[in-house]
Amino acid sequence: EMIEPGWEFDNSYVRLPQLFFTEQQPTPVRAPEMILFNSPLAASLGLNASTLNSEEGLAVFAGNQIPAGATPLAQAYAGHQFGYFNRLGDGRALLIGEHITPHGERFDIQLKGSGRTPYSRGGDGRAALGPMLREYIISEAMYALGIATTRSLAVVTTGEPIYRETELPGAVLTRIGASHIRVGTFQYAAQFGTVEDIRALADYSIQRHYPGIYDHENRYLALLHEVIKRQAALIAKWQLVGFIHGVMNTDNMAISGETIDYGPCAFMDRYDPATVFSSIDRDGRYAYGNQPRIGAWNLARLAEALLPLIHDDEEQAVAMAEDAIADFIELYHVNWLEGMRAKLGIFNEELEDSSLIEGLLSMMKKYDVDYTNTFRALTLGQREAGALFDSVEYAEWHERWQARLGRQKQSIADSQQLMKNSNPAMIPRNHRVEEALDAAVQGDLTVVERLLHVLANPFTYSEEQVEYISPPPADACPYQTFCGT
Ligand code: AMP
Ligand code: MG
Ligand code: MG
Repeated sequence: EMIEPGWEFDNSYVRLPQLFFTEQQPTPVRAPEMILFNSPLAASLGLNASTLNSEEGLAVFAGNQIPAGATPLAQAYAGHQFGYFNRLGDGRALLIGEHITPHGERFDIQLKGSGRTPYSRGGDGRAALGPMLREYIISEAMYALGIATTRSLAVVTTGEPIYRETELPGAVLTRIGASHIRVGTFQYAAQFGTVEDIRALADYSIQRHYPGIYDHENRYLALLHEVIKRQAALIAKWQLVGFIHGVMNTDNMAISGETIDYGPCAFMDRYDPATVFSSIDRDGRYAYGNQPRIGAWNLARLAEALLPLIHDDEEQAVAMAEDAIADFIELYHVNWLEGMRAKLGIFNEELEDSSLIEGLLSMMKKYDVDYTNTFRALTLGQREAGALFDSVEYAEWHERWQARLGRQKQSIADSQQLMKNSNPAMIPRNHRVEEALDAAVQGDLTVVERLLHVLANPFTYSEEQVEYISPPPADACPYQTFCGT
């Protein structure tokens, strides 16, 4: 006898003004096949994993069947893409519904690659297997790294080819998120709606993500501050692990503070603030070192959209918004510094910590060393072969660092533990991700499965992770990522 899948849908988004969405059914696919299913995630959502990892789940994750209680819709939004404002919306994704877990938490269940919508413009509404597996791998790796993110419940193939530069297998990803309200959703309301529409979206966002500020005397200004706090914490975490989002358009920044929309993202190997992987980011707008600045720029767009709610007097509203954006820069720095201290085993605060950290980073840049593996070596008290660790300046820096550790009450063992908890033993290396995706597209999923297994516990420093730590070979072509496939 089949156990119920456990869906508990309550679709609050359809209660927003009609401006914000269009009800839309997924386009059925010919021959779906389950490629990956995330049983632990299903269980944590109160879903029955074995029921869903079957024909029943397959039909839902392919868009061939709508679970009882769901109301599929395409969300409308806008956004600045590489600095240019565009009217957008879910062109190849659908919000199937909001699932309520047994603990009362609300999650969006989204299908990505589920067919055309009124917002598809020239696109086919479909997604290819490689990029959907890539989002699954990277988002689950981010989750394991302790970074707020949407997660991946399943990838299915459709049995239908899609056409890009070549013919590719089509796929649908089931994505789980706290919500998919974006900075660009507010921009959309401000540009195409009334002040009442902006207010409805803001009240909805507050109730969903920041219920504690609902009774605040200026809850819309408080909303801006809360989003700023979450984004400052989020982007600091990206910087600390070397994550490059790659397409920080305002439609790809979530009000919830989760990392969303994994397209051309990738992890940095050698430390260089100018690192860019995305083939379309020719000017380096979204380079590693620019992410905090772009975060501030995007939040300024959110602030603009909220201005009419923040104060009746526009000049006063602008002044309040500007203060909030200045807070972001400060908060980001505080978060980053705290994270960097932890990466170096430092528990307390000293004024010269910034210069100690900057000293290390500038040597890392100068000697062109791997970001993750340098911190790994420091954590394990090992010396990597190469010019950095052999240099006199490193020896001097090391002495300064050890003296710094000596000036706190915690033991060296405490510091080492803090470093192990703060420096991942491994990251999803670009060449290992590519290798896994290539195998999967050829029909061999074991490489993806092993990679997912080792990425699930990045702070354990286990033996099985060691083969995954090597950076790409020095003579490898510069890694490039692509979006829109
Ligand atoms: P992204 O680059 O994933 O943030 O997508 C930017 C916009 O393009 C969003 O509105 C997407 O829904 C839309 N889009 C991307 N790929 C497709 C596609 N294959 N078909 C229709 N719309 C798409
Ligand atoms: Mg997007
Ligand atoms: Mg996308």
